[in-house]
Amino acid sequence: MVLIAIAVLFTVSPVKAEWFSHEFDVMGTRAKVEFEHNSAPQAKKLIQQVVDEMNRIDHLMSPFKPDSELSKINRLAAKSALVISGEMFSLLEQSLHYSHLTKGAFDITFSSVGYLYDFRNKIKPNKREKEGLVASIDFRSIRLDKVTKTIKFNNLKTKIDLGGIAKGHAVDQCIALLRLQGIKNAFVSAGGDSRVIGKKNDRLWYIGIKHPRDKNKLVVNLPLEEVAISTSGDYERFFIQDGVRYHHIIDPKTGDSARSSQSVTILADTSTDADALSTSIFVLGPVRGMDLVNQLPNISAIIIDKNGKMTFSDDLTNAK
Ligand code: ADP
Ligand code: MG
Repeated sequence: MVLIAIAVLFTVSPVKAEWFSHEFDVMGTRAKVEFEHNSAPQAKKLIQQVVDEMNRIDHLMSPFKPDSELSKINRLAAKSALVISGEMFSLLEQSLHYSHLTKGAFDITFSSVGYLYDFRNKIKPNKREKEGLVASIDFRSIRLDKVTKTIKFNNLKTKIDLGGIAKGHAVDQCIALLRLQGIKNAFVSAGGDSRVIGKKNDRLWYIGIKHPRDKNKLVVNLPLEEVAISTSGDYERFFIQDGVRYHHIIDPKTGDSARSSQSVTILADTSTDADALSTSIFVLGPVRGMDLVNQLPNISAIIIDKNGKMTFSDDLTNAK
Protein backbone atom coordinates (compact mmCIF):
# COMPACT_ATOMS: atom_id res chain seq x y z
CA MET A 1 0.00 0.00 0.00
CA VAL A 2 2.70 2.44 1.06
CA LEU A 3 4.74 1.60 -2.01
CA ILE A 4 1.79 2.23 -4.32
CA ALA A 5 1.13 5.58 -2.67
CA ILE A 6 4.74 6.60 -3.18
CA ALA A 7 4.65 5.52 -6.82
CA VAL A 8 1.48 7.52 -7.45
CA LEU A 9 2.91 10.58 -5.75
CA PHE A 10 6.00 10.27 -7.87
CA THR A 11 4.19 10.01 -11.19
CA VAL A 12 1.70 12.85 -10.62
CA SER A 13 4.03 15.26 -8.85
CA PRO A 14 3.75 18.49 -10.85
CA VAL A 15 6.62 20.02 -12.78
CA LYS A 16 8.19 22.72 -10.67
CA ALA A 17 6.72 26.15 -11.39
CA GLU A 18 9.06 28.90 -12.54
CA TRP A 19 8.76 32.67 -12.73
CA PHE A 20 8.44 34.35 -16.12
CA SER A 21 8.65 38.07 -16.75
CA HIS A 22 8.54 40.41 -19.71
CA GLU A 23 8.79 44.18 -20.16
CA PHE A 24 7.58 46.12 -23.19
CA ASP A 25 6.57 49.59 -24.40
CA VAL A 26 2.88 50.39 -24.84
CA MET A 27 0.51 53.35 -24.27
CA GLY A 28 3.48 55.71 -24.22
CA THR A 29 4.95 53.96 -21.19
CA ARG A 30 6.69 50.82 -19.96
CA ALA A 31 4.59 47.77 -19.09
CA LYS A 32 5.59 44.62 -17.22
CA VAL A 33 4.07 41.21 -16.61
CA GLU A 34 5.44 38.63 -14.21
CA PHE A 35 3.87 35.31 -13.17
CA GLU A 36 4.50 31.78 -12.02
CA HIS A 37 3.85 28.93 -14.47
CA ASN A 38 4.85 25.31 -14.81
CA SER A 39 5.24 25.25 -18.61
CA ALA A 40 7.71 27.49 -20.43
CA PRO A 41 6.00 27.25 -23.87
CA GLN A 42 2.61 28.05 -22.37
CA ALA A 43 4.05 30.91 -20.34
CA LYS A 44 5.50 32.36 -23.53
CA LYS A 45 2.08 32.21 -25.20
CA LEU A 46 0.48 33.87 -22.22
CA ILE A 47 3.02 36.70 -22.26
CA GLN A 48 2.13 37.29 -25.93
CA GLN A 49 -1.58 37.42 -25.02
CA VAL A 50 -0.85 40.08 -22.39
CA VAL A 51 1.19 42.14 -24.89
CA ASP A 52 -1.61 41.80 -27.49
CA GLU A 53 -4.27 42.83 -24.97
CA MET A 54 -2.42 45.99 -23.96
CA ASN A 55 -1.83 46.87 -27.63
CA ARG A 56 -5.50 46.27 -28.43
CA ILE A 57 -6.56 48.73 -25.72
CA ASP A 58 -3.94 51.24 -26.89
CA HIS A 59 -5.38 51.06 -30.43
CA LEU A 60 -8.86 51.64 -29.06
CA MET A 61 -8.08 54.47 -26.63
CA SER A 62 -5.00 56.35 -27.83
CA PRO A 63 -5.54 60.06 -28.55
CA PHE A 64 -2.44 59.96 -30.78
CA LYS A 65 -3.66 57.29 -33.21
CA PRO A 66 -6.05 58.87 -35.75
CA ASP A 67 -7.89 55.57 -36.28
CA SER A 68 -8.49 54.83 -32.57
CA GLU A 69 -12.09 54.75 -31.36
CA LEU A 70 -11.24 57.66 -29.06
CA SER A 71 -9.99 59.81 -31.97
CA LYS A 72 -13.15 58.99 -33.89
CA ILE A 73 -15.28 60.12 -30.95
CA ASN A 74 -13.33 63.38 -30.75
CA ARG A 75 -13.86 63.98 -34.47
CA LEU A 76 -17.55 63.09 -34.66
CA ALA A 77 -19.40 63.11 -31.33
CA ALA A 78 -19.99 66.86 -31.30
CA LYS A 79 -21.78 66.60 -34.67
CA SER A 80 -24.12 63.67 -34.02
CA ALA A 81 -24.65 60.73 -31.66
CA LEU A 82 -22.09 58.03 -32.34
CA VAL A 83 -22.45 54.29 -31.64
CA ILE A 84 -19.45 53.07 -29.63
CA SER A 85 -18.08 49.72 -28.42
CA GLY A 86 -19.32 48.20 -25.17
CA GLU A 87 -15.84 48.42 -23.68
CA MET A 88 -15.52 52.13 -24.49
CA PHE A 89 -19.04 52.82 -23.22
CA SER A 90 -18.33 51.14 -19.92
CA LEU A 91 -15.03 52.97 -19.36
CA LEU A 92 -16.75 56.28 -20.17
CA GLU A 93 -19.47 55.46 -17.64
CA GLN A 94 -16.81 54.76 -15.02
CA SER A 95 -15.05 58.02 -15.90
CA LEU A 96 -18.29 59.94 -15.37
CA HIS A 97 -18.82 58.10 -12.08
CA TYR A 98 -15.44 59.45 -10.90
CA SER A 99 -16.30 62.94 -12.15
CA HIS A 100 -19.41 62.94 -9.94
CA LEU A 101 -17.60 61.40 -6.96
CA THR A 102 -14.75 63.97 -7.11
CA LYS A 103 -17.00 66.95 -7.99
CA GLY A 104 -15.25 67.36 -11.31
CA ALA A 105 -11.59 66.90 -10.25
CA PHE A 106 -11.53 63.86 -12.51
CA ASP A 107 -12.75 65.02 -15.89
CA ILE A 108 -11.81 63.40 -19.19
CA THR A 109 -12.87 66.60 -20.99
CA PHE A 110 -9.73 68.22 -19.46
CA SER A 111 -8.45 67.47 -22.97
CA SER A 112 -10.53 70.35 -24.41
CA VAL A 113 -7.57 72.44 -23.13
CA GLY A 114 -5.15 69.58 -22.44
CA TYR A 115 -4.68 68.74 -26.11
CA LEU A 116 -2.74 71.98 -26.49
CA TYR A 117 0.04 70.77 -24.14
CA ASP A 118 3.02 68.85 -25.47
CA PHE A 119 5.28 68.16 -22.51
CA ARG A 120 8.05 66.51 -24.50
CA ASN A 121 8.40 69.59 -26.70
CA LYS A 122 7.76 72.10 -23.88
CA ILE A 123 4.61 73.43 -25.48
CA LYS A 124 1.64 74.86 -23.54
CA PRO A 125 -1.43 76.88 -24.47
CA ASN A 126 -1.07 80.64 -24.13
CA LYS A 127 -3.27 82.59 -21.71
CA ARG A 128 -5.82 83.55 -24.37
CA GLU A 129 -6.16 80.01 -25.73
CA LYS A 130 -6.55 78.62 -22.21
CA GLU A 131 -9.15 81.18 -21.18
CA GLY A 132 -11.09 80.60 -24.39
CA LEU A 133 -11.32 76.84 -23.84
CA VAL A 134 -11.41 76.28 -20.09
CA ALA A 135 -15.23 76.57 -19.99
CA SER A 136 -15.35 73.59 -22.37
CA ILE A 137 -13.85 71.39 -19.65
CA ASP A 138 -17.10 70.00 -18.31
CA PHE A 139 -17.96 66.32 -18.07
CA ARG A 140 -21.66 67.23 -18.23
CA SER A 141 -21.20 67.91 -21.94
CA ILE A 142 -20.81 64.16 -22.46
CA ARG A 143 -24.11 62.43 -23.11
CA LEU A 144 -24.14 58.64 -22.93
CA ASP A 145 -27.25 56.75 -24.03
CA LYS A 146 -27.41 53.26 -22.52
CA VAL A 147 -30.15 52.09 -24.86
CA THR A 148 -28.59 53.11 -28.16
CA LYS A 149 -24.99 52.70 -26.86
CA THR A 150 -24.13 56.12 -28.23
CA ILE A 151 -22.11 59.13 -27.16
CA LYS A 152 -22.86 62.75 -27.98
CA PHE A 153 -21.04 65.93 -26.95
CA ASN A 154 -23.28 68.94 -26.53
CA ASN A 155 -20.39 71.36 -26.98
CA LEU A 156 -18.49 71.71 -30.26
CA LYS A 157 -15.19 72.29 -28.44
CA THR A 158 -15.32 69.19 -26.21
CA LYS A 159 -12.41 66.78 -26.47
CA ILE A 160 -11.85 63.72 -24.29
CA ASP A 161 -8.75 61.78 -23.24
CA LEU A 162 -8.69 58.59 -21.18
CA GLY A 163 -5.04 58.93 -20.07
CA GLY A 164 -6.13 59.07 -16.42
CA ILE A 165 -7.95 55.71 -16.45
CA ALA A 166 -7.05 53.61 -19.54
CA LYS A 167 -3.82 52.13 -18.17
CA GLY A 168 -5.67 50.96 -15.08
CA HIS A 169 -8.30 49.34 -17.29
CA ALA A 170 -5.54 47.64 -19.33
CA VAL A 171 -3.93 46.23 -16.18
CA ASP A 172 -7.29 44.89 -14.94
CA GLN A 173 -7.96 43.25 -18.31
CA CYS A 174 -4.56 41.53 -18.24
CA ILE A 175 -5.01 40.30 -14.66
CA ALA A 176 -8.41 38.87 -15.69
CA LEU A 177 -6.80 37.17 -18.68
CA LEU A 178 -4.08 35.59 -16.50
CA ARG A 179 -6.63 34.44 -13.91
CA LEU A 180 -8.73 32.84 -16.62
CA GLN A 181 -5.68 30.79 -17.61
CA GLY A 182 -5.31 29.54 -14.04
CA ILE A 183 -2.49 31.84 -12.94
CA LYS A 184 -2.49 32.34 -9.16
CA ASN A 185 0.60 34.49 -8.56
CA ALA A 186 1.19 37.48 -10.82
CA PHE A 187 2.15 41.13 -11.20
CA VAL A 188 1.05 43.41 -14.07
CA SER A 189 1.99 47.05 -14.52
CA ALA A 190 1.59 49.82 -17.09
CA GLY A 191 3.50 52.97 -16.12
CA GLY A 192 2.49 53.94 -12.59
CA ASP A 193 -0.39 51.45 -12.45
CA SER A 194 0.24 47.99 -10.97
CA ARG A 195 -1.82 45.11 -9.64
CA VAL A 196 -0.78 41.92 -7.85
CA ILE A 197 -2.49 38.59 -7.23
CA GLY A 198 -1.27 35.82 -4.93
CA LYS A 199 2.27 35.94 -3.63
CA LYS A 200 5.87 36.24 -4.81
CA ASN A 201 7.68 33.08 -3.73
CA ASP A 202 5.46 32.65 -0.63
CA ARG A 203 6.18 36.24 0.36
CA LEU A 204 4.15 39.38 -0.15
CA TRP A 205 4.80 41.54 -3.17
CA TYR A 206 6.81 44.72 -2.63
CA ILE A 207 6.13 47.88 -4.62
CA GLY A 208 8.04 51.08 -3.98
CA ILE A 209 6.88 54.68 -4.27
CA LYS A 210 9.47 56.87 -5.98
CA HIS A 211 10.83 60.01 -4.41
CA PRO A 212 9.16 62.74 -6.49
CA ARG A 213 12.36 64.78 -6.73
CA ASP A 214 14.96 61.98 -6.85
CA LYS A 215 14.34 59.21 -9.38
CA ASN A 216 16.81 56.85 -7.76
CA LYS A 217 15.24 56.96 -4.30
CA LEU A 218 12.13 55.30 -2.89
CA VAL A 219 10.14 57.03 -0.17
CA VAL A 220 8.45 53.80 0.94
CA ASN A 221 8.39 50.18 -0.09
CA LEU A 222 4.96 48.65 0.53
CA PRO A 223 4.25 44.97 1.20
CA LEU A 224 1.15 44.13 -0.85
CA GLU A 225 -1.34 41.34 -1.41
CA GLU A 226 -4.36 41.11 -3.79
CA VAL A 227 -4.44 44.82 -4.50
CA ALA A 228 -4.03 47.48 -7.18
CA ILE A 229 -1.73 50.45 -6.66
CA SER A 230 -1.43 53.59 -8.76
CA THR A 231 0.86 56.58 -8.43
CA SER A 232 0.26 59.92 -10.15
CA GLY A 233 3.21 62.28 -10.03
CA ASP A 234 4.22 65.69 -11.35
CA TYR A 235 7.65 64.27 -12.32
CA GLU A 236 6.69 61.79 -15.07
CA ARG A 237 5.81 64.14 -17.90
CA PHE A 238 6.77 67.76 -17.30
CA PHE A 239 8.91 70.73 -18.21
CA ILE A 240 9.96 73.76 -16.20
CA GLN A 241 9.62 77.26 -17.66
CA ASP A 242 10.41 80.47 -15.75
CA GLY A 243 10.59 78.43 -12.55
CA VAL A 244 7.09 76.96 -13.04
CA ARG A 245 6.53 73.22 -13.43
CA TYR A 246 4.10 72.29 -16.23
CA HIS A 247 3.02 68.66 -16.02
CA HIS A 248 0.37 66.29 -17.30
CA ILE A 249 -2.23 66.37 -14.51
CA ILE A 250 -4.61 69.21 -15.26
CA ASP A 251 -6.92 71.01 -12.86
CA PRO A 252 -10.25 71.17 -14.75
CA LYS A 253 -11.10 74.48 -13.05
CA THR A 254 -8.07 76.30 -14.50
CA GLY A 255 -6.82 74.27 -17.46
CA ASP A 256 -3.39 74.57 -15.84
CA SER A 257 -1.31 71.86 -14.12
CA ALA A 258 -2.50 70.98 -10.59
CA ARG A 259 0.16 72.11 -8.13
CA SER A 260 -0.83 71.22 -4.58
CA SER A 261 0.74 67.73 -4.63
CA GLN A 262 3.94 66.14 -5.93
CA SER A 263 2.74 62.55 -5.84
CA VAL A 264 -0.41 60.62 -4.94
CA THR A 265 -0.52 56.87 -4.48
CA ILE A 266 -3.83 55.03 -4.23
CA LEU A 267 -4.48 51.45 -3.17
CA ALA A 268 -7.78 49.93 -4.36
CA ASP A 269 -9.30 46.61 -5.35
CA THR A 270 -8.98 47.29 -9.08
CA SER A 271 -6.46 49.21 -11.16
CA THR A 272 -9.22 51.14 -12.92
CA ASP A 273 -10.33 52.58 -9.57
CA ALA A 274 -6.76 53.19 -8.36
CA ASP A 275 -5.82 54.94 -11.62
CA ALA A 276 -8.84 57.26 -11.76
CA LEU A 277 -8.52 58.09 -8.07
CA SER A 278 -4.76 58.82 -8.08
CA THR A 279 -5.31 61.42 -10.81
CA SER A 280 -8.39 62.81 -9.01
CA ILE A 281 -6.80 63.07 -5.56
CA PHE A 282 -3.76 64.72 -7.11
CA VAL A 283 -6.06 67.44 -8.46
CA LEU A 284 -8.05 67.76 -5.20
CA GLY A 285 -4.83 68.27 -3.21
CA PRO A 286 -3.73 66.79 0.12
CA VAL A 287 -6.51 68.20 2.33
CA ARG A 288 -9.66 67.74 0.25
CA GLY A 289 -8.16 64.64 -1.37
CA MET A 290 -7.42 62.87 1.91
CA ASP A 291 -10.86 63.79 3.28
CA LEU A 292 -12.46 62.06 0.32
CA VAL A 293 -10.20 58.98 0.56
CA ASN A 294 -11.05 58.58 4.25
CA GLN A 295 -14.76 58.43 3.35
CA LEU A 296 -14.34 55.75 0.68
CA PRO A 297 -14.40 52.06 1.69
CA ASN A 298 -11.38 49.94 0.65
CA ILE A 299 -9.38 52.91 -0.64
CA SER A 300 -6.05 53.97 0.89
CA ALA A 301 -3.75 56.85 -0.02
CA ILE A 302 -0.23 58.10 0.47
CA ILE A 303 0.05 61.76 -0.53
CA ILE A 304 3.21 63.81 -0.87
CA ASP A 305 2.23 67.46 -0.83
CA LYS A 306 3.86 70.36 -2.70
CA ASN A 307 6.42 70.80 0.11
CA GLY A 308 7.39 67.12 0.12
CA LYS A 309 5.45 66.25 3.27
CA MET A 310 4.03 62.71 3.22
CA THR A 311 0.65 61.79 4.76
CA PHE A 312 -1.20 58.48 5.01
CA SER A 313 -4.95 57.79 4.96
CA ASP A 314 -6.54 56.85 8.32
CA ASP A 315 -6.58 53.09 7.63
CA LEU A 316 -2.82 53.06 6.90
CA THR A 317 -2.04 55.28 9.89
CA ASN A 318 -4.00 52.97 12.22
CA ALA A 319 -2.34 49.87 10.74
CA LYS A 320 1.21 51.16 11.35
P1 ADP B 1 0.20 58.45 -15.83
O1 ADP B 1 -0.46 58.67 -17.14
O2 ADP B 1 1.60 58.99 -15.77
O3 ADP B 1 0.06 57.07 -15.28
P2 ADP B 1 -1.96 59.52 -14.24
O4 ADP B 1 -2.62 58.24 -13.95
O5 ADP B 1 -1.90 60.47 -13.12
O6 ADP B 1 -0.51 59.38 -14.78
O7 ADP B 1 -2.76 60.19 -15.39
C1 ADP B 1 -2.34 61.38 -15.97
C2 ADP B 1 -3.07 61.46 -17.25
O8 ADP B 1 -4.46 61.63 -16.97
C3 ADP B 1 -2.67 62.62 -18.10
O9 ADP B 1 -1.60 62.31 -18.96
C4 ADP B 1 -3.94 62.91 -18.85
O10 ADP B 1 -4.05 62.04 -19.97
C5 ADP B 1 -5.04 62.52 -17.88
N1 ADP B 1 -5.55 63.65 -17.06
C6 ADP B 1 -4.91 64.80 -16.70
N2 ADP B 1 -5.68 65.57 -15.92
C7 ADP B 1 -6.85 64.89 -15.77
C8 ADP B 1 -8.07 65.18 -15.06
N3 ADP B 1 -8.24 66.28 -14.34
N4 ADP B 1 -9.07 64.25 -15.13
C9 ADP B 1 -8.91 63.11 -15.86
N5 ADP B 1 -7.80 62.80 -16.53
C10 ADP B 1 -6.78 63.66 -16.49
MG1 MG C 1 -4.44 57.93 -13.12
